[in-house]
Amino acid sequence: MKFYRTHVLVAQDTKSILAGSKRIEETLIEEIKLAGLENEIRVIPTGSLGYSENNQVAIAIYPDNIIYAPVLTSSVKEIVEEHFLKGRIIKALAHPMKHKEISMEERTSENQLNIDVQKRIILKNVGQINPESIHEYIAADGYMALEKALSEMTPESVIEEMKTSELRGRGGAGFPTGLKWQFTRPNPGPTKYVICNADEGEPGTFKDREIMEGDPHKMVEGMILAAYAVGGTDGYIYIRGEYNLSINRLQKAIDACYEYGLLGKNILGTDFSFDLCIHTGAGAYICGEETALINSIEGKRGEPRKKPPYPPSQGLWQKPTLVNNVETFANVPAIINHGGEWYKTLGVEGSYGTKLFSLMGDLNWKGTIEIPFGTTIGKIVDTIGHGVRYDRVLKGIILGGSSGSLIVPGELNTPIDFQSLSRIEAGPGSGSILVMDETRCIVDICLNIAEFFRHESCGKCTPCREGNAQICHLLEMISYGYGLPEDLEKLERIANTMMETSFCPLGQTAPSVLLQALKKFRGEFLAHIDENICPAGVCEINFVEEECSCG
Ligand code: SF4
Repeated sequence: MKFYRTHVLVAQDTKSILAGSKRIEETLIEEIKLAGLENEIRVIPTGSLGYSENNQVAIAIYPDNIIYAPVLTSSVKEIVEEHFLKGRIIKALAHPMKHKEISMEERTSENQLNIDVQKRIILKNVGQINPESIHEYIAADGYMALEKALSEMTPESVIEEMKTSELRGRGGAGFPTGLKWQFTRPNPGPTKYVICNADEGEPGTFKDREIMEGDPHKMVEGMILAAYAVGGTDGYIYIRGEYNLSINRLQKAIDACYEYGLLGKNILGTDFSFDLCIHTGAGAYICGEETALINSIEGKRGEPRKKPPYPPSQGLWQKPTLVNNVETFANVPAIINHGGEWYKTLGVEGSYGTKLFSLMGDLNWKGTIEIPFGTTIGKIVDTIGHGVRYDRVLKGIILGGSSGSLIVPGELNTPIDFQSLSRIEAGPGSGSILVMDETRCIVDICLNIAEFFRHESCGKCTPCREGNAQICHLLEMISYGYGLPEDLEKLERIANTMMETSFCPLGQTAPSVLLQALKKFRGEFLAHIDENICPAGVCEINFVEEECSCG
């Protein structure tokens, strides 16, 4: 085995690749060779280093624990000469990997990634290992939980450990994972399916992608453990077709598992056998709903099924089926390795462990974060996101995706956990935090969301199919300056009817941001209707006014 004095990890997640990280990697290899350092310094691709959402390429240098960002091809030569040859850190580009609570002075520096507020359990390996190497995953304690489960635990005791951890599903509904596994296990075989819902279709949500691109083996290990616990024989990863890099890396992970006896017949020499493959979705949001997803795998139209029967008793091809989300499966190896009680030392009562969020919008720093439950929304915005950009005023936050909830500045002290959020009619939802500053118009935001749901409604039931179209129409009228005072009550009536009568969660939650906006920002809707102005200056209404005055 060859030893290198320095390892250089180049971020190779989708965003970094789009920002040019492949070119940076090639240039680094060339310059290192030109400097005669190719036997001392090794360049390795890795997952996100936390800078890609700002369209920057980052590299991490070990054992120096330095991140350079943004790295341009023109800065590579300087890095090689100064850092690798002369041993000098380039201060203008360098960011320490860990630092304490960020001070007001430090906050002026836009690109610092505060990971002390975060707790990285699921993302532990992301940005640390080569996601395409099973050896690196194994060296980072990978497949230890599987080995432990197969050699020391019965399927029932794996389920018990999951119940002890009180892990709640991370797909949105928050159903206890251990209970779901317990319901699936007794249902008769011989065929039983385990499905990973990797159809991350919520606009602005990309946290599952971070796992699949940065540490795909963790999710695969979680799935194999789940299959062992519930008696699963065959598995599918249902993934959105646009996630090319995730698909490639997951496929490589699956191939390596077959090669190393971690998938297929008699896994690790035991009686347990499990096969796993990838199924790519065609891009319908509704296929994130578990029964629509199952229909899609069966080759049918992606529409939700009537429940009951629930998938644990009758799912794919009418066989017992366990469906969990990417993040849920990625939690499992740590729980089996360290125990359910250990897991409960993270987070707060009733909401244990950590939670991933896609942090985005009008912030100084954006990206995927992992926080322990109990962290307040304000701390995430101020400390991890480094506050609202351009020193603007915070207007609101959409938490949990387009079907999530609207948080206003007065609610920033709310901790992120299932109980506290439910008190303000919110929840973690799909795991996204969209921050909006004062320049955003709430009518425009609601119209954007409504257009998305009008497009994504599968059309099976009337309240959702017609309701979304009517909401769109009314919001368009308000946004163009043709709204009527009674439109607000109409919007509320349609939204409430959809929530109460739609067939599946899409229709039931599609108008939730709108309903909260009508409560919390009613004055802004009325300004469009009564005064014919868009206070944020976003809606076309202002142009209508101008045209009228000219005429
Ligand atoms: Fe389809 Fe919407 Fe009805 Fe769900 S609520 S079944 S997405 S039409």
